Amino acid sequence: MSSAIDLSVIIPIYNEEANLPTLYQRLTKVAQDLGVSYELIFVNDGSRDKSADLMKALAMADTAVRYVILSRNFGHQIAVSAGLDRALGGRVAIIDADLQDPPELIADLWTKMDEGFEVVYARRRKRPGESWLKLLTAKVFYRLLASITSVSIPVDTGDFRLMDAKVVHYLKLMPEQHKFLRGQISWIGFRQTYIEYDRQERAGGVTGYTYAKMIKFAMDGITSFSDFPLKLATFTGFTISGVAALVLIYALYGKLVSHTTVDGWASLMVSILFLGGVQLVTIGIIGEYIGRLSQNVKNRPLYIVDEEKKLDS
Ligand code: UDP
Ligand code: MG
Repeated sequence: MSSAIDLSVIIPIYNEEANLPTLYQRLTKVAQDLGVSYELIFVNDGSRDKSADLMKALAMADTAVRYVILSRNFGHQIAVSAGLDRALGGRVAIIDADLQDPPELIADLWTKMDEGFEVVYARRRKRPGESWLKLLTAKVFYRLLASITSVSIPVDTGDFRLMDAKVVHYLKLMPEQHKFLRGQISWIGFRQTYIEYDRQERAGGVTGYTYAKMIKFAMDGITSFSDFPLKLATFTGFTISGVAALVLIYALYGKLVSHTTVDGWASLMVSILFLGGVQLVTIGIIGEYIGRLSQNVKNRPLYIVDEEKKLDS
């Protein structure tokens, strides 16, 4: 696929006014040093600070800057998707706005891609400045996901990466509402590789990924790429039924043959509570999948655009 622009950089923005100026300077320098034609696509994901005004000002002063302002906060993955929908580059980079992903690494991703890859992602060696709980949950999540999915989704990797326009094209053909981009990109295939880097601390501002958003993201990743929880529910159901059948035989034996039935209140309570718990968990798992199914069936647009600056406007 030939393209007029060599590189598109997609930057999702949620309350990043403190980081935008430096980010813009560093990205511009990287792109200019690479000597390629480029566009910077800022996607404002319902920021409550001055991020939107800042990106408009940047776009006024620099024709390489484009922006999309979403009507509210749709979440990181959807903000990136809005950027992907507009990217015109032959190669497309996704980068966080908080300078945790060093913009200069895009040059290394670029060189690596020249060796003949369609996707080069950046894998984090270190993640300083993040809470132990975030590090632990992320570590457990990536490994759990890797062990229950059939697609090999790289561990310890965010969305910081460089992709060929070909990959972006196929990504845009995937209509699901619950985006788990790194999984979808793995699923697409072609030649993918990675380079390692030390993640930086957030330059300014605070994280926009609350634990609630992280849990939703993790559930989206698992349900989009694995039926394991459903299988686990079935397996648990069978196992518990098996055990229940044995207990039933034992109870009948006690009642009819050995006449040793005791006032089994405790065992009764335990089994009722246990079975009740298992049933609720199982229904919950099924509910997670059905909820996502129904949202996809509704076919709503993924996001709403309030305002945008296209390349030639
Ligand atoms: N972000 C977004 N929408 C959100 C949350 C975050 O567009 O609802 C952006 C944010 O501005 C940043 C990137 O997504 O560019 C990563 O978010 P953040 O740094 O808050 O996440 P963390 O690094 O803490 O996981
Ligand atoms: Mg961050």
